[in-house]
Amino acid sequence: MSARAWTPDSWRAMPIRQVPDYPDQARLKAMEDKVRRFPPLVFAGEADRLKAQLARAGDGNAFILQGGDCAESFAEFHANNIRDTFRVLLQMAVVLTFGAALPVVKLGRMAGQFAKPRSSDTETIDGVTLPSYRGDIVNGPDFTAEARVPDPGRMEFAYLQSAATLNLLRAFATGGYADLHQVHRWNLDFAARSPLADRYAGLAHRIDETLRFMGACGMSDLPQVRETEFYTSHEALLLPFEESLTRQPSTHPGRHFACSAHFLWIGDRTRQPDGAHVEFMRGIANPIGMKVGPSMEADELVKLTEILNPANEKGRLTLISRMGAEKVEAKLPGLLRAVKRAGRNVVWLCDPMHGNGVKAGAYKTRSFDAILGEVRGFFDCHAAEGTVPGGVHVEMTGQNVTECLGGAHRLTEADLAANYATFCDPRLNAEQSLELAFLISEELKA
Ligand code: PEP
Ligand code: MN
Repeated sequence: MSARAWTPDSWRAMPIRQVPDYPDQARLKAMEDKVRRFPPLVFAGEADRLKAQLARAGDGNAFILQGGDCAESFAEFHANNIRDTFRVLLQMAVVLTFGAALPVVKLGRMAGQFAKPRSSDTETIDGVTLPSYRGDIVNGPDFTAEARVPDPGRMEFAYLQSAATLNLLRAFATGGYADLHQVHRWNLDFAARSPLADRYAGLAHRIDETLRFMGACGMSDLPQVRETEFYTSHEALLLPFEESLTRQPSTHPGRHFACSAHFLWIGDRTRQPDGAHVEFMRGIANPIGMKVGPSMEADELVKLTEILNPANEKGRLTLISRMGAEKVEAKLPGLLRAVKRAGRNVVWLCDPMHGNGVKAGAYKTRSFDAILGEVRGFFDCHAAEGTVPGGVHVEMTGQNVTECLGGAHRLTEADLAANYATFCDPRLNAEQSLELAFLISEELKA
């Protein structure tokens, strides 16, 4: 199939899953035409630069931190939310840089993470059945028939929110907010307040000494200390939108880039080798990811790496393992072996969120221990197989939400109602995210 000609719209001839049922196709077409005229959100050169950094991670010379909301929303669009998620990602990155003794590639699930795949097309509450919420770029979260009708007009606001978010992220990254000294001060503050203060103090103080030493050597004003590089990513689910933002930049002749983000991934529900999403993704020149869940077979995975990365280029394809803490040791080693035996260049990332969902009454939640357990299992599998664990992918927020259980503050099921704010899956809150980074860092140091 990969011999067939690819065009930005060749996915339209393939079977597609998770597609919204737009009632008015003419309005959809009009919105696609409108988005086609919008400026790209990212520049192809940036996507190439990210690809080179991901290639380093694949070789064990960098570590990737990908994180952000499960679903961004129009209602939560606020500078403070963007700032706080960015800040916690930077805080995690400093801790991981120290633990891994490697540069950390920072990739937000931000500035475009709006479309959601759903396990069911409908949702039933108190005997009323309505179409499922598919993310703010498609329909509304309210449980009313009106809100749940897919509306192509939402693509325009999603684009504008993405542009404004990215603009702020770029300003934060280079304008002084991301200064390593400041990020470290936030970490000291966290470590002092945590119930596990003693545990984190050691690592925090070693980082402190390192920064003082660097300062004494005259290294405090280097761009590597004052600024950071930050990239954006989201699931490439809503293909009419992604196609409309796909461009062939004059600077990169003959290559098509999806210009909605630097990095796009294929979800676990839309990775059929002959499906529309794989077809679209195989032709774009960005670095791409694919979720790999417990139903993936080794042969199928190798075949997908051939379709999605025919030139076997390093950094092109990141496989995001999301098995669940209980299954990772059973499912992952065979896949690591098959990909290695086939000589396929990939970057392996651990998503310890999506295989660990549980129900607690009306709430979808995840336990901190299961999340940490899957990360540990992922590292152990790589150590046993002689392959490279390239990084982690988490759903998190800078807000003090109560969506995941456990952590140093021992959140319980009774606490979930206090501030359960997610529009889709439960996220680690700011403290739980940092704790996870400290614990992974200890693991990497060991
Ligand atoms: C997600 O990342 O929010 C998601 C839906 O993941 P998956 O495709 O792995 O289920
Ligand atoms: Mn999710």
